[in-house]
Formats: sequence, structure tokens, C-alpha cells
Amino acid sequence: MKNVIQQLSHIVQEVSLASTYEQKVALMVESISEAMLVDVCSLYLLNKEGEMLLLATHGLAASAVRTVKLPAGAGLVGLVASTRHPVNIADAEKHPAYLYIAETQEERYHGFCAIPLVFGGRVIGVLVVQSSEKRQFSKNEEGFLVTLGAQLAVLLANYPISAEDMELSARVAGVKGSPGVAIGYSYLCDHGELYEVSDSPCLDIESTISEWHALVKWVSNQIDDEKRSLGKDVGEGVSGIFNAYKMLLNDPAFVAEVEHNIRDNNWLPGALKLAILHFSEVFLAMEDPYLQARHEDIHHLGNKLFNAWKGTRASTHEVDVDIVLVGQQVSISDIASVAANRLKGILCFGGSGLSHTAVLANSLGVPAVMGTGRIGGLIDGQLLIVDGDQAQVHISPNKVLLNEYRKIIRESKALTRQLRNLRQEPAETTDKQEIRLYTNTGLLTDISPGLNNGAQGVGLYRTEIPFLIRDSFPSEDEQVNVYRQVLEAYDGKPVFMRTLDIGGDKQLPYFPIQNEENPALGWRGIRFSLDNNQLLMTQVRAMLRASERSNNLQILLPMVTSIQEIEQFKEILDDACVQLGSEGYVIVKPRLGIMIEVPALIAQIPFLAGKVDFISIGSNDLSQYLLALDRNNARVASRYDHVHPGVLLEIKRILESAKVQNIPVSLCGEMAADPVAVVILLGMGMRTLSMSAAKLLYIKKLIRSISIAQAEEIADRALQLNHPDQIRKLVGDELKKLGLAELIR
Ligand code: PEP
Ligand code: MG
Repeated sequence: MKNVIQQLSHIVQEVSLASTYEQKVALMVESISEAMLVDVCSLYLLNKEGEMLLLATHGLAASAVRTVKLPAGAGLVGLVASTRHPVNIADAEKHPAYLYIAETQEERYHGFCAIPLVFGGRVIGVLVVQSSEKRQFSKNEEGFLVTLGAQLAVLLANYPISAEDMELSARVAGVKGSPGVAIGYSYLCDHGELYEVSDSPCLDIESTISEWHALVKWVSNQIDDEKRSLGKDVGEGVSGIFNAYKMLLNDPAFVAEVEHNIRDNNWLPGALKLAILHFSEVFLAMEDPYLQARHEDIHHLGNKLFNAWKGTRASTHEVDVDIVLVGQQVSISDIASVAANRLKGILCFGGSGLSHTAVLANSLGVPAVMGTGRIGGLIDGQLLIVDGDQAQVHISPNKVLLNEYRKIIRESKALTRQLRNLRQEPAETTDKQEIRLYTNTGLLTDISPGLNNGAQGVGLYRTEIPFLIRDSFPSEDEQVNVYRQVLEAYDGKPVFMRTLDIGGDKQLPYFPIQNEENPALGWRGIRFSLDNNQLLMTQVRAMLRASERSNNLQILLPMVTSIQEIEQFKEILDDACVQLGSEGYVIVKPRLGIMIEVPALIAQIPFLAGKVDFISIGSNDLSQYLLALDRNNARVASRYDHVHPGVLLEIKRILESAKVQNIPVSLCGEMAADPVAVVILLGMGMRTLSMSAAKLLYIKKLIRSISIAQAEEIADRALQLNHPDQIRKLVGDELKKLGLAELIR
């Protein structure tokens, strides 16, 4: 076997690009047989009944496929699955565990090597190769199969294995992103696919070059159309990104480079991929940060061209259908580019429930499922059900399933209508303890739901969102205009405005923070702002000017690690007040608070007295850092739970420590909208919560159904437990006893 790494990546790429699951498994066994020069390659996957089903084979009798089912533990395949260990023997028949199955006609084969396929800690199948000669496979061959199996298991994890699944609908499991159920048509976002294309010979060079020129023209017109329609809906910021696409598309050097690659005997997608990679490297190496940032646009443009070439975008421009955005990561600009009343759901192949895409989906009340892994073969315009409550997506569902889900949507609307009666009611426990309920916002379009649902203020205004949907930093006047709309809409109520929190998974398209090995621990939040204090000064001045009439601004600092950062910020704030005073503005200095997201700050709370007016717990990042679990990594998403005892006990410590210093505490992460977490938080003494508007009335209903004494008793018991699942079960059962089962579907 030559070029092992190349062979491996070739097989994985080919398989992941296959459009149907059947093609995937057929390709898998064919290409492994070819690469390893073996007579047989077979794939067995575990079915719901616990049997190993022969799903694909190269070499065994074709009639055995989907017919042969080995009971748990039976035969050599069963042995590999139960021991999670390869079996590699020269003559299979001689092994005591050998089980002869006539349908496969495998008596001709002797050499046998099988490895377990494991995903998420669970054996999901077994991959077998066989040879007619009596020979043991070499260590290298066995290693190749083990390595390949580890990669292929990811692609097989969601295989719709039963015939019933195949016929009726394909169900794909992921992790919870945002609750609720949505039905809509898939709309693929452009992320990454072009890079999966392999090079391939070009069959007709001249006609491919003509095809390339026609493609450039077609996409150029498409961009003009998109720009026109987006210009109306989301303003100049987003449409400016399209100007950058046009600029690159009209660049003769770019067009010529693709042409050159075609002449070098590469097919169009391969030629395009090489040119896009080359151009993005050129831009990345530029010194000017603006030009450097254009490399992102080059990637997006590449995928746009590729998608247009595949012809998959043609059907998606009807704006009158309900849309489910689908992509590896669905970006904020993808979200902003769909009319709000048409965006029904989000499906992300990557990410977790705490990715910013999920946070945004929550704030918009759009159901989302994250971290499903790439779903090959999904094209634009396919009917999808996004079940954000059960973390699953149904692709092309049958009528029965559709009706079932339509019923769930109707019931949930009825519950929302019923909850609407609570809008004017106080958020008060049954023993009359008032709880302050605020809303989280960031987009101008999501201001009114908070007000409509009785929010007592904005507990977290994420200022980075207006920054993210533009193609350059907004000016002071532009920021004043955006902030003023929020502050004035909440006149008489507090608005906690957070300074720019970019970095990590929130990258500005026009100022990407590159080359960080560990972005979550890098140039983020206040660290970035203090190092770029010219941007911070503009932002603070804009906030102060915007609050001149309403006087309800409170400033919140993200990702604070040390007291020195607070002091440095205060100098900027003082300076901004002085500057604006001398310019004739009448400024009242706002209250200043910090987010507790970095664990190091917890021990420093005793030193915060007199330095900050309030604390807001950012439980998303705090959990990420306490648990050392990347909030964006689908592979560890199932381990991430903010009701982990380690997180709860630290929040308890924050509440106790802040009480001693007389510093008010609130919580504005996703935990504030999780009924199980809210019971424990109330029991630990939390009295102010900020959440997405869509969740306000649900949480109000919970608060009005429980007493502080009950919450304290439940929290005490919960804190004795060691595992998040046990905590969820305990509190979930108590919520059911209170008649609140509907809150935790
Ligand atoms: C948090 O970390 O909990 C938080 C509210 O901030 P963000 O989700 O925007 O990082
Ligand atoms: Mg945060």
C-alpha cells in the first residue's frame, strides 16, 4: 500500500461527498477493497434490535446485503463489537467464534481482519476485510483499517439504518441549539464545500473555459439581485459585503487564473478551488488589515461560484417559502440575509448549544439543531423538520410525521397564547418574592418582542451584532443611531449595554483575528477593546451620546480577567465624559458593571467593592472555562451542561461573595432560560435573570408557580448530586409535580 495518508484522505473525501447514504456505503467498501487490494470488504452496522446488519459488501454475495443480521455477540463480527478490539487471523474458520452464514457465500475466503466502528463512545458497526489466501493482514494494513474506521464512523453515525427509516424519513441527531419545532425548506449556506472537491482531469478544455466565463457572468448578476433585495431589508452594511464579491469577480487576474488551471487539465471545480486558495493566501499575507480581511470574502465567493456551478442555488430565491438555514456554521450575515418572517429554523453541522449561532437563534426564537456532523447529499429546497427540543432533524419527512409535528407546533402556539396573559402580571414567586426579568438583544429587529413580553429592561445588549453584519467598523454617529433606538424603546427601564465582545467564534468579517491557536483564550472582549482603545473610545462616546435623553444606560464589560482592566476602562469612560462635556453634551455617568465569565474573577470579588456597581454572570462562557469544554465544539457538546455541579457551586460562591460586598448580581447566559437551572438559581439566591424574549413568559410562569422555600429545598438536594443528568432528573420531576411538565418538553 502506497501513500497511506493520501489514500486515507481520498477515501474519506469521496465518501463524504457521496449524495445518498446508499452511495456512501457502496463507495466505502469499493474504495477500501481497491486501496487494500483485498477480495472482500464488508460493512456491518448495529440496528435498533441490537443486531449487526450487513449493509454493504464488495466480494460477498450481493443478495446477503440487508438480509444477513447477526445477533449481538454472534460470530467474529459480534466478537469484535463486544470486545471493541480488532480480530486479525489467517484463517477465519479456525477461530472458535467463527459462524458460517450460507447467504454470504464466504467459505472461499480465509484471511480475515475486522475492526470496530465507534462513535461517541458507542460501537455502531464493524468493518471487515477478507482475502481468499490464508494470510494474516500486516500490522500496517490493520493500522490503516483502524485509522480509516475512526474517520468513517463519524460519517456513519447518523445512518438511517432500518428500511422504515429509509423509506419514511431520515432522522439526524445533533445537540440542542434553540428550542421549538420548525418546518421549512432547506437553504444551504456557503461554507467549506469547495475545499472538499478533489482535482480531476478536464474532459473538454475549451468548452470548460466557456462554461467558466458564463458562470462568472451568472454569479455576477445573481450578486446584483441579492444586493438589491438585501439593501432594502438589512441596510448598507450587509450589501457592502456583496460589493467586495463583485470587485473580486471582476478582477481579470482571478478570472485568468481559473482559466489557466483549466488549461493545466483540471476540471472547473478543481481549477476554481486552486485559484480561490491561492487568492485567499495572497490577501491573507497583506499588511493592511482591511485587505487582509478580504480573504474571508474570497472563500465565500468561491463557494458561491461552486454552488452556482452545481446549480443548487437556482431554486432557493423564492422569498415566499419558509426557510431552514443549513450549513457547517450559519453566520450572522446568513441569518440577516433571510427575511425574518421566512426564517423558521437553523441546522448547523458544527457547533453546540452555546455557539453564538445558537445564542442568536434563541434570541430570535428560531428553533435550531447544532452539531449533527456534515449531512451529505442535502440539497436546497428539501423539506425539513427541525426539532430543537429533541435535538433532531427529519429530512423529507412523510405525512404522518409532518402531521405529528404540525400538532406539536399548534400546541406550542396555544401555550404561548395562554402565557400571553402573564405579560402584565408581576414575576413573583408564590411567597411574594419579586424576580427581575430582563431580555437579551442585539439586533434592532428583536427589540419589540422583549417589550411585548413584559421585559423590565435589557439585561444584555450585545453590541457586537450591529458590528458583525457590516463590512467596516460603524462610525460614532451610526452607533449612536443604533444604540439610541434601543435605549429610547426601553425608556424608564435599565439597558445593560455591553462593550464590543468579538474574538473567539465572533469574528468581524473586516477585522479577522488570525493565527490564534486557542481563540477562546485569546484576543477577546475587553482585551481586544483595551488594546484597540480608539475603537473603544468611539463606542463609549456613542453609548453616552445615545443615552443623553433617556439616561437609562448601564455599561457592561465582557471577558474581564483582572481589576486592572476595570481601572483602564474607567480612564476611558472618564475621558469620554470630559470630552463630551466640553463638546456641549449633557452626560450623566452610567453605572458600570462587569460580566463574570472568566473563573479567575470569582476569587477577586472581595476586591470589587467600590469598583463596580453590579455583576452579571455570563454563564455560557463561565461554563466553557470552568468545564474546559469549547462551547463551539460539536464533539464535546454532549458533555457540556451548565447544570454541572462544578458550575452551580461556583455560581453559589459568586452569589455569597457578592452579597458580602453588597454588589447586585444578575445572570444573562442561556441558563437563565433553562427551567431546571432557574429553579436552582432561585434556590441559591439569584433574583435577576436576563434571557431571550421568546423565553420570558415561560420563565415567568415557572416563577409564579414556585415558592422560594421550595426552590431552596430543591437546590439543596440538587447540590448534593454529582452528575448533571441526576440534577436534571431531580428538578424535572419536581417541575412535573408543580404541573409544569410543558415547560420541559
Ligand atoms: C455568556 O458568555 O454567557 C454571555 C452572555 O455572553 P455571550 O454568549 O455573548 O458570549
Ligand atoms: Mg460571553
